[in-house]
Amino acid sequence: MTRDPRYDILFEPVKIGPVTTRNRFYQVPHCTGMGWVRPKTLAAMRGVKAEGGWGVVNTEYCSIHPASDDQLHISATIWDDTDIRSHRLMTDKVHDGGALAGCELWYGGSRSANLATRLPSMDVADMPNQVGHPYQSRAMDKTDIRNFRRWHRNAALRAREAEFDIVYVYATHDYLLSNFLNPRTNTRGDEYGGSLENRTRLIRELIAETKEAVGDRCGVAVRFAADEKIGEDGKPILGERRDMLEMMAEMPDLWDINIADYSLEMGASRFTSEGALEPYMQFVRSITTKPIVTVGRYTSPDSMVRMIKSGATDLIGAARPSIADPYLPKKIEEGRLEDIRECIGCNVCYSGDSLSVPIRCTQNPTMGEEWRRGWHPEKIEEKGSDSTVLIVGAGPAGLEAARALGRRGYSVVLAEAGTVLGGRVTREAALPGMSEYIRVRDYREQQLHQMPNVEIYFDSALTAQDVHDFGADHVAIATGARWRADVFDGSRFQAVADEGVRIYTPDDIMDGDLPTGPVVIMDSDGYYMGGVVAEKLRAAGCEVTIVTPFDRVSPWSLNTGEGWRVPGHLLGLGIKLATAQSVTWFDGTDVTISCVHTEAEMTLKAASLVVVGQRVPTGTLYRDLMEGAGEDALPFTLSRIGDSEAPGIVAAAVYAGHRYARELDMVVDIDMPMRHEKVDVGQPPVQLREAAE
Ligand code: ADP
Ligand code: SF4
Repeated sequence: MTRDPRYDILFEPVKIGPVTTRNRFYQVPHCTGMGWVRPKTLAAMRGVKAEGGWGVVNTEYCSIHPASDDQLHISATIWDDTDIRSHRLMTDKVHDGGALAGCELWYGGSRSANLATRLPSMDVADMPNQVGHPYQSRAMDKTDIRNFRRWHRNAALRAREAEFDIVYVYATHDYLLSNFLNPRTNTRGDEYGGSLENRTRLIRELIAETKEAVGDRCGVAVRFAADEKIGEDGKPILGERRDMLEMMAEMPDLWDINIADYSLEMGASRFTSEGALEPYMQFVRSITTKPIVTVGRYTSPDSMVRMIKSGATDLIGAARPSIADPYLPKKIEEGRLEDIRECIGCNVCYSGDSLSVPIRCTQNPTMGEEWRRGWHPEKIEEKGSDSTVLIVGAGPAGLEAARALGRRGYSVVLAEAGTVLGGRVTREAALPGMSEYIRVRDYREQQLHQMPNVEIYFDSALTAQDVHDFGADHVAIATGARWRADVFDGSRFQAVADEGVRIYTPDDIMDGDLPTGPVVIMDSDGYYMGGVVAEKLRAAGCEVTIVTPFDRVSPWSLNTGEGWRVPGHLLGLGIKLATAQSVTWFDGTDVTISCVHTEAEMTLKAASLVVVGQRVPTGTLYRDLMEGAGEDALPFTLSRIGDSEAPGIVAAAVYAGHRYARELDMVVDIDMPMRHEKVDVGQPPVQLREAAE
């Protein structure tokens, strides 16, 4: 297949100062939870993106000095020569794939408390740490500014030595440089504060110094927000941004434009859709002749072409679309649009950084596994035998197992009890704000339809006897899980209602069996389900109160960035929130709740209680098979995958399905099933080894 000529424009080269990108696909800097800690893992992941056709592949935020330290979160670092060697792992891989490599130099200011390096934090003025640590930043004096400029310049020189092609001056996201620009945070009385000229001075100095350091070999990019402060979505408050841009318009080689509100820029699909930054981009083109890149979670090549043709941007910036599908550019180039694995906007990828673990992706189970497991998003081992596989259940786990096994060439039967594919994602995608989750099913369904070796049977709720009768060599149980109506009290699951009093669960709501109001939702799950069920019931006209034992509603959603918007969104809909409270009993008219700190009780009047707690694997199929024959006596291998093994998030089910498919007929060392990236201290000295022997 060849590419549609409509998309030719996406494959035009773009000059960025002294370097030229082969096309307009630009992976903007994005965090990974790998950074300086896991350089091999990181290099392999970025290398796959270059292979997949991205024209530019950037690092994550890359600290220029130990006084900018974001741990617990893992950034990249470029502090010394050892960092240069680490980055070379990435730049070599990126260059091998034919892409340019970019490095986002970063200084955190009052957003980094320097917890690990224990150096005092510095910013434009005295101010508290901006992410809640009980530390303050002190105002930089002239010596500090001189030191900072030298650190930045030295970091740029190291980036050049590490063979980067693009080097950033990072002036957004509330880090140090954006605080210099901001008239509210910059209260200085010297030549770096006050007038616009003064507030832009440090950035102008850095652009000039970075260019002087690397400009004959690397393009210099500036990351800059198009609006001044957070307002209503889609309604930019420009403030002095136009004037600032005019002042610096032709200084860098590339403008990487984003916005003040990170919860919109990196908005979860629950709250924002593709192209959320477009209203903010309108004026930028008229100010600079330099190339512009911006993001918008674009997965549709038509939207990309529209953006380029409108002149709003020259390069299609992407973090999430490049994570969900590292081969997105190649697939457009080869005319394989139906093979694009579209991002669903769940932001589980961002949770890697939040939780300081390697990045993962709901749609792309190979993300983060390129090095330690050797997984590739587009390549997979051919089948290891002619054996047949029966997969029971077509949720995310079963679908992904079938897809990946189908790709390996196995003869696969996928048996589904219901009449549609998708399991939980089909059900959950019908809840408010969740519609993009259906892409988990749609991508796999589309792929399976192209595979003659995969057969799908609906209306097939298999029993143990059915499975035996089937005669497959391998059986994977992917029958999912159902929500429980009882509540885990810290030690065990307990009933929370009088006998005969009905408790609703999210499964009832998804079945369309809605309670009458007023409704109390007891949310001890802490992720999105409590909030979206509340929204659904509120839209159905119920008065709704969410009771949660956590200190805030949907706390796990903070890891995905959704949490920045959830409480305000729910309160805006008229949903009441009762935090740090657990439900102790429901008698059909009163819900008794108890403060988790004092155990003080109170009652809420309610017609119905919905428990959003934990889940239990569906059915007894696995147990029946195991008990019926004993494991050794089974004439097939038997595995459980996804929620039927251990309920978790959708990404975990997709991953489980993929892992099952990868490992079938492979020798897996279950004592050490993956490579372990760590500091290797090498061999101990001979005398120590001899003593140990
Ligand atoms: P996961 O997230 O682990 O993929 P889901 O709950 O999303 O799990 O999907 C499980 C799927 O398995 C559902 O579509 C359900 O209808 C199906 N299923 C459950 N029990 C059986 C069974 N005995 N035979 C066939 N399909 C089943
Ligand atoms: Fe998109 Fe979710 Fe994958 Fe992130 S984890 S790239 S938001 S599908």
